[in-house]
This record gives sequence, C-alpha cells and structure tokens, in this order.
Amino acid sequence: MTFEALGLNTSIIKALTDAGYTKPTPVQEQAIPAAIAGKDLLVSSQTGSGKTAAFMLPSLHRLAGTDPVAAGKTPNQEMQAARARGERPRFKAAQPKMLVLTPTRELALQVTTNTDKYSVNLRRLKAVSILGGMPYPKQMQLLAKNPEILVATPGRLIDHMESGKIDFSQLEILVLDEADRMLDMGFIDDIEKIVDATPSTRQTMLFSATLDGVVGNMARRITKDPQVIQILSAANKHENITQRVHFVDDLSHKNRLLDHLLRDEALDQAVVFTATKRDADTIADRLNIAGFSAAALHGDMHQGARNRTLDSLRRGQVKILIATDVAARGIDVPTITHVFNYDLPKFPEDYVHRIGRTGRAGRNGLAISLVNHAEGMNVKRIERFTKQLIPVNVIEGYEPKKTSSPARSSARPGGWKPGDNRTGAKPGQRSFSKPGAAPRKEGGYKGSNPRSSDGARRSYGDR
Ligand code: ADP
Ligand code: MG
Repeated sequence: MTFEALGLNTSIIKALTDAGYTKPTPVQEQAIPAAIAGKDLLVSSQTGSGKTAAFMLPSLHRLAGTDPVAAGKTPNQEMQAARARGERPRFKAAQPKMLVLTPTRELALQVTTNTDKYSVNLRRLKAVSILGGMPYPKQMQLLAKNPEILVATPGRLIDHMESGKIDFSQLEILVLDEADRMLDMGFIDDIEKIVDATPSTRQTMLFSATLDGVVGNMARRITKDPQVIQILSAANKHENITQRVHFVDDLSHKNRLLDHLLRDEALDQAVVFTATKRDADTIADRLNIAGFSAAALHGDMHQGARNRTLDSLRRGQVKILIATDVAARGIDVPTITHVFNYDLPKFPEDYVHRIGRTGRAGRNGLAISLVNHAEGMNVKRIERFTKQLIPVNVIEGYEPKKTSSPARSSARPGGWKPGDNRTGAKPGQRSFSKPGAAPRKEGGYKGSNPRSSDGARRSYGDR
C-alpha cells in the first residue's frame, strides 16, 4: 500500500517522501481514506503507530482542497485597516477550520511540529498551538493570524473561547487526540463545552487507547455514524520492546543498579520515570554529579524550561530524561533506546504509555522496571493488563539480598549467566518470547516455557 493509493494530494505525498515516510502504517491505511471521504472516526491503536499522520494527512488534504476564505481579510489586516480609518481596532475572533485537542502541551507542540512537516508544500495552511503557560500577548499574536489549524489543550482554549477570541462557527474538522487521557485528566466538561461551540456538521475524529467505558460514551455522543478502527496487532503488545523487572532491596541498591544500567553501551538516550516531581529533580541532580547528562521534566517547571529540556533531548545534548508521567506523555524521540521505571506507575495503563517512549517508529527498545520486593503485586497487575509476562533479571554484583514474593523468587536461579554481558547487547537481541517459543536461554524463568504448550498463559499461582 502506498500514500498515493490512499488518495492524498501530491504536495502532501512529496512532503512525506522528504520526511522519510515510505509507506503508510496500518492505522493510516485504514483511517486516511475514510477520513478523506468525510467519515467520523473512532480509532484505537498503540502509541507510536502513527496516529498523528492518520488524522492530519486527510485533514490537510481536505483543507487544501477548499477555497481560500473568499476575499476575507485576516484579523491582522482588519485591525490595520481599522487603524487606518482612525478607529480603535477591535480584535476579530480567529475562525479555525480544524481543531485538535490534546491532553498536554508537549503533545500539542508535537502535533504542530508534525503538521508543519506534512504541510510544508501547502503554504496557505497554518497550524498554531495555544497552550497554557504561553505568554498571553504571544497567544493573541498567533490567533490574529487566523490560523486554519488550531492545536490546543482544553483548559486554555476555553479561556479564549469564553472571551470571544476564537469563534468555532467555521470549524470543519474536530480531532480529540488521546481522548482517554484527556478524560483521566478531568477535561470532560471543557471538552463538552468546546464540542457544543462547534457546528454539528463538523467531521469528528477521536483517538484513544481504549474505546470503552467513559471514552466510549463520549465518543458516541460527539460522533455521527463513526467508522471504528481498532488496530489489534502484535505491535499492541509492544513486541519490539523488551521488558524486564529487576528486584531491589532498598533505595541505595536501586540507585546503584540504575547507574549500572545507564552505562549500557547500547543505550543511546533514556527516560527514567519517577513517581514525584521532587524525585525527578533529585535523581537528575545525582546523575549529573555522577557524570551523566541528565535533566528533569515535570509539571512544576515553567513552559520555557520544559521546551528547552525537550529540545536538548531531541538534539541529543540531554541523554537521560528524568520525568513524571504527565510531563513525558507523548514524547516522541526515536533515539530513546531505554525506559526505566524508577518507580512503578500507579496505573497499568501508564506503564504501557511509559514503555512506548522507546521502540518508536518500528525500532527496538528496552524497558526496565526497578521494583521493591513488596511491589510484586503491582507487577502482576501490569502483566494482567498487558497480557504479557515480564521476565525478571538479575545482574551479577547487583543481586538482591532479600527474596521477593515466593512466586517470584524461585524463578531467578539459572537465569543469569556470569560473563554473559547482557547490558552490552543490542536491545533487539533480546526480544520478548513469542507464545509457544522455546524458553529464552538467558531468560529469568526457571525451568520450562513461560507459557504452557497450548500457548495459553500460565496462571499466576505457579509463579
Ligand atoms: P502515535 O500518535 O500513534 O503514538 P505518532 O503519530 O506520534 O504515533 O508517530 C510515531 C512516530 O512514527 C513519529 O516519529 C512519526 O514521525 C513516525 N511515523 C508516522 N507515520 C510514519 C510512516 N508512515 N512512516 C514512517 N514513520 C512514520
Ligand atoms: Mg499520538
């Protein structure tokens, strides 16, 4: 399948070729033709599967085809004209044609950056992000350009809507990106208000990790006869990401092990997840003293500092990012080879989002959780959610002294072979066992195949 075959216009295809996209991903294959045809979409597929292009490409195609706003002046021009007439210029509301709502500022910026890339040959189409933390005059300046495409977090957008700075009466396309996350973050009322302000003739596309529960209810309310696209491939299980658990006795053991693992030769860049903002700062300081180029990223930082940190990460100046869940949501840096859970996430869903920061765009990645013995249950909750077992590993010289839960501890001996320089291996050489596959030589499971012969998962009771 090619992008041409999906019906996209040649200016867009040229931009994709320049961006190094050779063929559409599965979610793009399904979403693009349906969206070009004007259908509403409900889409769930894993992180890193190319959802941004799945909604942005057909939208750009549609918007590029519509006539430029007939003889319309931009709000800037109107204000200048008013000034020339000696009138006090009144701010004219921006009238976007497309609105993308995202849960976080980082994600909004990423969507805008991608849009700029896809639309480089479509000069007329402008995309801007309106975000909390951005200086107000700057936002006014952006809105005064009357951009066709607005990318925003719900909270800040409501402010502008209510003060008459944005008028959605001309909106043609509404996208809710990571809708489940926006609802988790408590944006439901804001979203409903925004949706109510848009014409009922709009096209609506909703992207979410899951389409049931609260998200499903909202999805049904705001879409009309939607096409449901669920990509349930092997990739959903993050099979290109090797997962491991290392048990630790205490904080000092955890820190020593982390430092050791960060020296993995195969590590290009890493994200270390912590439970608190304070820990993120403390660990970043400690790692910098230890000679790593590390930086923290969390919600207490000013937007400018967050952007600078993300830029340094993208440019490779920061090698190790220490982050909290919300701040790291949606980060898309293909050179991230390792994800560490310094603390386990509160919700299993977050585990999936965290490890999805590596293994981007089809690459391999390694996700390592450092787990206290008392947290065995939390690992099991994650395993139940992902329907995958996470092998436990031990590194010589960093063995836990205590044993974890009986189910876990018995599985360790025999797993690690001294001299087998695992941390020096490429992540891709340690892919997760496929159902029915032979037990991994170096794997953490004692004895037989982690799955029973019929391919079903072993019960938790025997572990
Ligand atoms: P998602 O929103 O599903 O998590 P993204 O839209 O952020 O995924 O895309 C993940 C990565 O894959 C990005 O780096 C993006 O540039 C890249 N990508 C998307 N589509 C393609 C494609 N067709 N070919 C190559 N790379 C792609
Ligand atoms: Mg996305």
